[in-house]
Parts: sequence; structure tokens; C-alpha cells
Amino acid sequence: MTQQWIDLRSDTVTRPTEAMRRAMAAAQVGDDVYGEDPTVNRLEQMAADMLGTEAAVLATSGTQSNLMGLLSHCQRGDEYIVGQQAHTYRFEGGGAAVFGSIQPQPLDFEADGTLDLGKVAAAVKPADFHFARTRLLCLENTQAGKVLPLAYMDAAADFARNHGLGMHLDGARLFNAAVKLAVDPARIACNFDTVSICLSKGLGAPVGSLLCGTRAHVARARRWRKLLGGGMRQAGILAAAGIYALEHHVQRLAQDHENAALLAEGLAKIAELDIDMATVQTNMVFAAMDPAQVKAFQQHMRDRGILVGGRGIYRLVTHLDVTARDIDRVIRAAEKFFNGG
Ligand SMILES: *Cc1c(COP(=O)(O)O)cnc(C)c1O
Repeated sequence: MTQQWIDLRSDTVTRPTEAMRRAMAAAQVGDDVYGEDPTVNRLEQMAADMLGTEAAVLATSGTQSNLMGLLSHCQRGDEYIVGQQAHTYRFEGGGAAVFGSIQPQPLDFEADGTLDLGKVAAAVKPADFHFARTRLLCLENTQAGKVLPLAYMDAAADFARNHGLGMHLDGARLFNAAVKLAVDPARIACNFDTVSICLSKGLGAPVGSLLCGTRAHVARARRWRKLLGGGMRQAGILAAAGIYALEHHVQRLAQDHENAALLAEGLAKIAELDIDMATVQTNMVFAAMDPAQVKAFQQHMRDRGILVGGRGIYRLVTHLDVTARDIDRVIRAAEKFFNGG
């Protein structure tokens, strides 16, 4: 590498550490389509144990894992209720409609990342052939870095039971939520039939997600994974990175949260940046600024080896490859842009 970038665009940009690469190199492997890869089997068991679910299945990406989850709940002509800005609706290419003929019913997220259960109730369709069959409530945690309250998830699960709906969680960053709340990941997962988790975000693995859930859901999801081209062979090489991540990179997410808080506090002192501190809960900071300055700001940061993401509202994400010293550098670079100091 010619330049040591500070890359705040996403927590997906992390590279496997030396220790993780050693674990990958040493992995015992077999053919996972035959169910014979011992390392994949171990990872799936480990994820199921951590989340307190009956089973888990490895997927190539969070998009695939979410889609397998939706397909395990819904048939052609069924409907899932989901956030307007949710990854499973907005950022997955419409896969549920394309592959499952599943109709989404998007609703705006509330400011805290929840879906208002009154609005969800109003969106549940009557049992009448004019309507799609509402089958599933899909939540996201963390949602844009915000942690859903436990009491809300408990209430949502009650609601879903009363309305005969299944529950799916896009838990791409579930471990950030669990670390922030200082609860067992299973305490979050317990309200859902299916939960998708990502190994390749804050946990720092190069590839991989898991769909965790009931035995029946995971069995259906495994079939869908094959149809979606996600049946991999000696995938233990990847699973070994996932096991390493689950063993070594969960508790350290607290450092990412501390770094994000430091970053937000530093940037909030700059008058031209607008940061809602209530939304800085885990590893993401959103900073709004005058749209006219956006391009120049991005270039200014880039010239100093700093990459930031977003359009108009900047998203800055802390992760394994960002240190507290880097945060200092980022704050000073931003100050220099606005104050010329
Ligand atoms: C990243 C992400 C996913 C999965 O994305 P992939 O890039 O397909 O792994 C799902 N949900 C959320 C909220 C995400 O941030």
C-alpha cells in the first residue's frame, strides 16, 4: 500500500488481520454442499449457540442471508412489512420481489430506528383476496447505527404473534447493538424466527453472513441458498475467519463505539457541521453540511488520506482499522477545512 488511508466510508473495508489469515490458512475443510466442511459446521453451530437459535446457515453475503430469510417466511403473493430505508427493502436490488414474488410494504422508520406498531397494524392487510397476504415483520438492528430498545423488540414480537406474523431481523450489526446494551446477543435474537448477521462488517471477516433461526426456517433457507448460487464447496477457509471474528472481534466493538463518540464530539464543535448526537450510539456518525461545500470537503479530506462516505449527509463509520489517533487526525483535518486553522 502506498498510502495509509483512514477509511471511514464503511465498516466493510476492514482487511483480515494476520491472526485471522493464519486461522484461515490452517482451516480443516470439506465439501460444504455435502455438509462435510467441519469448519463451516462449527461456525454454524457457534452462531446458533451465540444467538440462542436452533440452527444457522452460512451465506455469501448479508443480502443473500436476508433474502434466504424472507424466502423462508413468505410465498409468492405474500407481503413483508419493512422500513422505507431498510437494507432489506431499499438496498438489496428488490430481491424479495425478483426471486420470491414477495410484495414489500415499506413504512417510514421512526427517529429511533423502530417501526411504529400502530402504523404497522394499519398496514396489515385483511384476509381478503383483494390483498397480498401480510406474513412478516422485518426489523433492522442496528438501524443507521441506532440500537432498538429491548422493550420495543419485545412489544414487536408480541404484536407479531397477535397478528400471525413472522419476525425477521436484519442484524447485520446485531453485535454492535448487543455490546452497546451489554446484553447477550441471544437477548436480542430471542424475539425473531430468523436473524441475519454479518461477519464482514464490524467483525472484520472478509466474507460471510449467517442466517440463524428455527430448524424449519433454516432448512428452507438452505434450500433457497442453493437456488441462489450460494452453495460453496471448501468454504471452511472463509468460515475460519468468521470463527476467529466471533471469538476475538465482538467485545472490541466497544472501542469502535468510543471512537465514534470521540469523532462526533470533535466534529460537533465545528459550527458548519450538523450532528444529531442522539443518533450516535454505536459506530456511525452522520454529519450534515451545506450541500455547496460537500465536494470541496470530500476532496480536502481525501488529500489528507481520509475517505468519508455519503452524499450531502456524510456517514463516518469506525471499525477495526481505525484508531483513536486516526480520529484525532480526522477532527483536525475537518477543523482545518472550515476554520482554515
Ligand atoms: C451491509 C448490510 C447488509 C448486508 O450487505 P452485504 O453487503 O450483502 O453483505 C444488510 N443489512 C444492513 C443493515 C447492512 O448494513
